[in-house]
Amino acid sequence: MSTSYFGDEGLAPDPNAEDAPFWAHCAQQRLCFQCCTDCGLLTHPPLGICPHCQSMRRDWVQAPAQARVFSFTWIHTTAHPSMKRELPYNVAVVEFDELPGVRLISNVVDAKPGGLQVGDGLKLVWEAAGSGMFVPRFCKTGT
Ligand SMILES: [Zn+2]
Repeated sequence: MSTSYFGDEGLAPDPNAEDAPFWAHCAQQRLCFQCCTDCGLLTHPPLGICPHCQSMRRDWVQAPAQARVFSFTWIHTTAHPSMKRELPYNVAVVEFDELPGVRLISNVVDAKPGGLQVGDGLKLVWEAAGSGMFVPRFCKTGT
């Protein structure tokens, strides 16, 4: 039985030079965001240089398992045939109270249309994406 939000053929990450460390943390089921070691600015997606102070000294901080819906939409149509059987699905922008300014685009895997609201509490869950990769997604916490 598949545990993926997008079925057995779910989209797998394709890391590039800048986000490879992000996905390496995900492979260990650790959701980490890039942080500037000079000014403390959190950035996502990862960048080679801090957009605030131009420092190239970067570190990673682990996100808490609790998050919140910042924004979301429901996708009802798709041009790609492989996604038609997944309709409707949500795309949610998620934020963390403890990590101001950083947001993650993900999905709330247990929400049905009409059952998702801005501010809903979320819990981080991991979905296997093949080849040892894991993708961060979220479930509603009911708070
Ligand atoms: Zn900085």
